[in-house]
Parts: sequence; C-alpha cells; structure tokens
Amino acid sequence: MSEISNLNPKLVWQHFDKICAIPHPSKHESALRDALIEFAKEQKLEHFVDTTGNLIIKKPATKGMENRKGVILQAHLDMVPQKNNDTKHDFEKDPILPYIDGEWIRAKGTTLGADNGIGVSAALAVLEDNSIVHPDIEVLFTIDEETGMTGAFGLKADVLKGDILMNLDSETEGELYVGCAGGIDASIKLDYSIEAVKSTYKTFNVCVKGLKGGHSGMDIILQRGNANKILFRLLNSLLELNILICDINGGSLRNAIPREAMATIAIAGVNVSKARTMIDEEWAKIANELAAVEPDFKITFEPCEQAKTAISRAKLLKLIRLVYGLPNGVYRMSDSMPNLVETSSNLAIVKTEEQTATISCLLRSSVDSSKEDLVNMMTAIALNANAEAEFTGGYPGWKPNMNSPILGLMSKTYKDLFNKEPKVMAIHAGLECGLLGGVYPNWDMISFGPTIQNPHSPDERVNIKSVDLFWQFLTETLKNIPVK
Ligand SMILES: [Zn+2]
Repeated sequence: MSEISNLNPKLVWQHFDKICAIPHPSKHESALRDALIEFAKEQKLEHFVDTTGNLIIKKPATKGMENRKGVILQAHLDMVPQKNNDTKHDFEKDPILPYIDGEWIRAKGTTLGADNGIGVSAALAVLEDNSIVHPDIEVLFTIDEETGMTGAFGLKADVLKGDILMNLDSETEGELYVGCAGGIDASIKLDYSIEAVKSTYKTFNVCVKGLKGGHSGMDIILQRGNANKILFRLLNSLLELNILICDINGGSLRNAIPREAMATIAIAGVNVSKARTMIDEEWAKIANELAAVEPDFKITFEPCEQAKTAISRAKLLKLIRLVYGLPNGVYRMSDSMPNLVETSSNLAIVKTEEQTATISCLLRSSVDSSKEDLVNMMTAIALNANAEAEFTGGYPGWKPNMNSPILGLMSKTYKDLFNKEPKVMAIHAGLECGLLGGVYPNWDMISFGPTIQNPHSPDERVNIKSVDLFWQFLTETLKNIPVK
C-alpha cells in the first residue's frame, strides 16, 4: 500500500493503488482482469468475460431502485506505457509507483495510468460500497482502448441489458462529453506508365515545408495548411509549362495533417526561370492566405540529380486533377454544438512507388450518413480519374444529442452539487462511445471523469480534489436515475 491509499474517497484510491501494482499496458491486461475477477468472486457479484476479452461485472439495484433504468459504467483496463529515457521500467513486469506531488498524483518516471485507472477504480468502488444508492449496474471493462479499441470493436449486441452508458474516460472535471467522430480510411490508387525525360529537361525538387501539422481530428478546426493540398495546387498551375513529375512524397501518417510534401519535377530548360517566378508568386499568395496560422510556411525549388523517367503525360493530368480535387479540411460544422467540426477529411499521404500513386485520407464525422456522403464523393472523383478507391476500418460516430435525458439529469445534478454549470463538450476524434453506441443504438450515453493532465506521457498526473468531485458527482447521479 502506498501513501495514496489514505486519500479521499478512500475506496477509489485503494483500488487505484492496487491497480498500479499490477502491470497492465495495452494488449497485456489479463493479470489485471484476473485480479478483478477475484474481486468479483469475493464480492459475490455475477461476472463474465465476453468473446473479445472484455470483463463484465453486475450488481443488482439497491432496494427500492429496481424499477430505475439500468446503468452501464464503462472504463478501459489498459494504459499507455511511456517512460522517461533515464527510467528503468519493464511495463509487463514492474509496478507503477504513484506518489503525491502537491495537489496531484504522479508516477515515478512513467505514465501513471490514471487514464483510465481512476475510472476503473471508481467503478470498482461502486461495486464494493454498499452504502451507495443505485439502480441495476453493469460494469463494462474494455480491453486495448489505446492501441485500436479492440474491446469496444468486439463488443456484441447481446452482452448488456442497461439503458444508460456512463463512460468514465474523460479528462477534465466539470466537462460532460456527449459526442465524438467516427472515421474511415480512404486509399485511392492510380496506376501509371512512365516516359523518358528528354535531355533538354532539367530536374528540380519542389518542397512545401514549415507547416505546423497536428492531429487530423482535433486540430482540423485550426485551418492549418495541408502540405499535399498546397503542393498539388502548385503543380496544377505549373501544368501550363508542360512540366513532368518524376516522383511525389507527401505526408507520413494518416492521422496527422501533413507538414511537408515534395515532388521531383522535370522542366524544359527554357521554362526554368518562368517556373521559378510562378512558384514564388504562388508561395506569396498562399503565404498571404495562411499568414495567421502558418507564419513559417515556405516552398523551395532546387535543382537535383537528373531524373531519367517521369509519369506519362496522359496520367499526369489525371493524377494532378485527382489529388487537387479531393476534399480536404473541415467539410461541415455541427448544428447542435458550437465550434464542433461535424465532418472532415485529411488528405494525409500522397506517394508514388513502382508506377502506382497512392493517396491516403482519413475521413471523420459524428454523423454516419455524412461520412458516407464523403465516401461516395471521393469514389466519384476517383472513378473520374480511372483510379481505384478503397475504404477500410470504418467505425461509427456519436452524434451530440442536446436533449439527452442523462445529459439533462447530470447537468442538473452537477449544478445542485457544486453550484455551477458543467461544460457540455464533444470531440472531433474517435472515442469508445462511438463504437459502443453503434452496437447499442438505444443507449443514452455520456462521458466524464476527473482532471488528468499530460496523459500518455511520463508527466501524466491526476488532480486529487477532482477525483473527489468526480466521485460525488457519479454517486449522486446514480441515486437520481429515473424510472424505466
Ligand atoms: Zn483513456
């Protein structure tokens, strides 16, 4: 037992202390799951592991609460294993060492796993504490949230009976999450033949760089420059100089806004100075458009080793028009929430390799039909260029419902308890709730939690006071769940 087990609420911190002692990085949750199964046996609570590996523990309603709606408390078992360079730690064997640092709990040299260990602990405390008044409870502990949401993806429709899902995996006390984005990966492939580059042509590298990039979901609202989109805007205007393209390499990760993109182009010697002027003019135009968000943006144009082959002219036009025409950035803002992106696309990667150009995009939306619309639009653009479009790894979004009964109840409960309004939020990125709600469309869902800073890094810390507020809020809400 460490010093944190004396903090309030005691039961929550004691469970968290025990969880820290059991290694549980993503994909290695079985030791923790076994310990929780032992706990369920000791408490004589019905429990089972589903076909995916998620653990479910049930607790019947307190006397007099049997007619209330059933609540599912959900948290993920795994944690992100990150450590400082000078820390020796084996996440599959060594315990996390939590300690009190002023108003916060941190771990010695590693991630703490408060994401989502505090949520797990709060659910365990609800299961154990018989002084709490609550309806029928089903606790859903999912596996592998951090590296693929495997547990949420695999949940079946006949596992849970409840009506309200409370996800305990949010990271700011006083915020209630009511929506998230779904996503789907687009891969568009265009095969091309090659032609020889004439000796009268000179070869150059054109590079778009200095952009900020960022997360393709959360940061898409910032309207930063997309290096691929800018590169193809430039190539499209250079078409009038009869350029050839030898290769293209833009972006690296599907979920990152591309910061750099590069093309090797060949130009007739007589057109080189014209090309240089055009590039500088385009650079100035785009820099002006993006001045507020991309102060370091630049385009470089430098001679390089003479290329022997280039994409054939017939396909070159198709390729440039295809990429230049693909939708990118914010496509639609939400009607139900201010400042929430509803639908977006990130033109993430463009690469040429072995006579195939591959374009990878990540589409997101909290409205599934809007995501479908983008899929169909991109398919249409691809077909027009005789390219092949494939869409994989789709998962549903969670459309914010401002009239959600659990949102109404929790907003009122929060105000009654703390005499202030909670903030109602949604996020333009994936959460387990999106997947879970896809399997159980009848659920009324909400996500909340204590204040956790710097999750997924060795600086992760959880605010002690916020855990107490989170616990009061959770237990007070359970008391007030309405009748079925
Ligand atoms: Zn989490």
